[in-house]
Amino acid sequence: MSDRTATLFPALAEGSARPALTFGERTLSYAELAASAGALAESLGGARRVAVWATPTLETAVAVVAALLAGVPAVPLNPKTGARELAHIVGDSAPSLVLAAPGEELPDVLAELPRIDIEALPASGSATEGGSRTWPEPTPDHPALIVYTSGTTGPPKGAVLPRRALTSTLDALEDAWQWTAEDTLVHGLPLFHVHGLILGVLGPLRRGGAVRHLGRFTTQGVARELSAGATMVFGVPTMYHRIAEELAGDPALAKALAGARLLVSGSAALQARDHERIRAATGRAVIERYGMTETLMNTSVRADGEPRAATVGVPLREVELRLVDESGRELPDGPDLVGEIQVRGPNLFLEYLNRPDATAEAFTDDGYFRTGDMAVRDPDGYVRIVGRKATDLIKSGGYKIGAGEIENVLMEHPGVRDAAVTGEPDADLGERIVAWIVPADRELPPPESELADHVAAQLAPHKRPRIVRYLDELPRNDMGKIMKKALHV
Ligand code: ATP
Ligand code: MG
Repeated sequence: MSDRTATLFPALAEGSARPALTFGERTLSYAELAASAGALAESLGGARRVAVWATPTLETAVAVVAALLAGVPAVPLNPKTGARELAHIVGDSAPSLVLAAPGEELPDVLAELPRIDIEALPASGSATEGGSRTWPEPTPDHPALIVYTSGTTGPPKGAVLPRRALTSTLDALEDAWQWTAEDTLVHGLPLFHVHGLILGVLGPLRRGGAVRHLGRFTTQGVARELSAGATMVFGVPTMYHRIAEELAGDPALAKALAGARLLVSGSAALQARDHERIRAATGRAVIERYGMTETLMNTSVRADGEPRAATVGVPLREVELRLVDESGRELPDGPDLVGEIQVRGPNLFLEYLNRPDATAEAFTDDGYFRTGDMAVRDPDGYVRIVGRKATDLIKSGGYKIGAGEIENVLMEHPGVRDAAVTGEPDADLGERIVAWIVPADRELPPPESELADHVAAQLAPHKRPRIVRYLDELPRNDMGKIMKKALHV
């Protein structure tokens, strides 16, 4: 490991007066963050593992930085998690302490744990003892965070993330996105997942730049912060979809976005149509990156590369990526060769907490992680995700068909606002293709045959949906991921 990776946040050690974190009206400079997080880190001394009640607040960001300083593994908890899932996560991760903002009421499963209130004070200018202290560096293998997966395909699993994974992924993004201390990020995501927490908070802090969190995402908030000088936006596709919808009627939003240095989307697929609409109205291409809780970031379109709709770009520095067929053989590049993405590199998690079998199953003999995501690769290496093996790979009439490609084409139809594609058991075909459609106009849904013909004409006859079902909304979680399991109940 190089010296650079030793300290997670060099700017924190310098303790400058530059702004680090802004949430609403409150800002902490690097010196103030060092003081607040340092003081909290002191009180964590010896804790085995801490849970952080991860509201979208300054307190949460300070708590996570404190745990990292103290070298105590932290488990960010989604405050909106339902009782049963929360009980699973708390039982599984067995934290010895819980950190919460003062006044936060905690549910019963956490109420019995020792609690420390998070203090995120702009320390009236003066650094306390905690701020000037230097903290011992844990080894690169040391578990830094335990982050639960989104639970899209089953109960959430706790991915144990070593410090090395954080530093390597954030530094690879520095390279891919030309990310510097001069960048200010507009942030409207929750703080308990990789996207909002590791990329959105720890990323800017590692670079020595600033975060401005909106509390709750609004397009107006994004426009306001960009107009005030922010340079980057991180969002999930539902946010860019809202932006795309509003751009036509909002020239101020278009102007603000046109001035951004970098617009990044991830966590789920950005629809090609939204990509194109934003590009047409602002001249800016949204950059897509692809990652997972277990692997942090794997690929991205580079800031200096050619943007291409519906692709997640190329492997990040130090990430080895291959596509394999069902027997585990590596696929050559080719437009119709769909394979599972496997990745290897310093960005990977250590294990699933308490799940040795799931951990063992997740890795190949040569140390690649099986992502469960299916993709094709352009001849120049750009990766296109076509869906998840578990829910998005449809085996119909002897073909393997990715749901994502059909969803993209359906979304191009003017009568469609949102679309999801799944497979359903079929006596003849093995599985038949089902399209779930949210019509643009509820009174005038496009007819089934018209949608099916549209897909067949754009793609291929065997990709034609056999059944079309109309809905008012698709079931999505708070990261904008479609919960396909909920479609079939
Ligand atoms: P679980 O593993 O619990 O079922 P999950 O896989 O949704 O839930 P996360 O780790 O939060 O939990 O999400 C990672 C997944 O998100 C990836 O495996 C991939 O399917 C999807 N994803 C992330 N970025 C993109 C992207 N840019 N395009 C398409 N899919 C993406
Ligand atoms: Mg997953």
